[in-house]
Amino acid sequence: MAYYSTEVAGFVSLFFYASFFEWILHRFLMHEPFWTYPFRSHALIHHGIFRSGPTYFLAQDEDLKKVRFAWWNAPLILGLHALLLLWIQHLLHVNIFFGGMAALGLYYLLYEYLHFCMHVPNERWIEKTVWFSWLDSHHHMHHKRHFNNLNVVLPLADFVFGTLVPARDRIPMPQRPGKSLALTPESPANSPLN
Ligand SMILES: [Zn+2]
Ligand SMILES: [Zn+2]
Repeated sequence: MAYYSTEVAGFVSLFFYASFFEWILHRFLMHEPFWTYPFRSHALIHHGIFRSGPTYFLAQDEDLKKVRFAWWNAPLILGLHALLLLWIQHLLHVNIFFGGMAALGLYYLLYEYLHFCMHVPNERWIEKTVWFSWLDSHHHMHHKRHFNNLNVVLPLADFVFGTLVPARDRIPMPQRPGKSLALTPESPANSPLN
């Protein structure tokens, strides 16, 4: 019983931790030129292609790769955290490794999936939820103001660090004639939510 309770505590703690890790990574590695690779691929390329208003959405399929992280980011980030969690588990003599890694893996998957749905909408069920609508508006504001709303999944760190700017302007999906992502002009999802 104690084994499971520490793993559950590890899951909850690491999910909250991930909000702060996401914020720091996004603010200092992806928006400051300390390390050329993440700055270039995010601040220059991702934000250069995806701006605010209609340019928030994918306009041409060639830019699909500019929405997601490179494949090797996941094993790098999760691998380093696996070592850290094993070390903490060893120091504290509590089992948190599997719960903690599950939380980090889930957070990473949510980041990639939600961020993809934000820039490449396609009438998925999740896009119609109030929760996603709020997160989508939150991220749209980040594409207007690069040093605000740095969280994509859980804006806890934005709230704690004072970078949360309330956003209500979720914008309608643009039409893409001839593409699967296109909506008809009559579609209810084509009208502004706010
Ligand atoms: Zn984005
Ligand atoms: Zn950014």
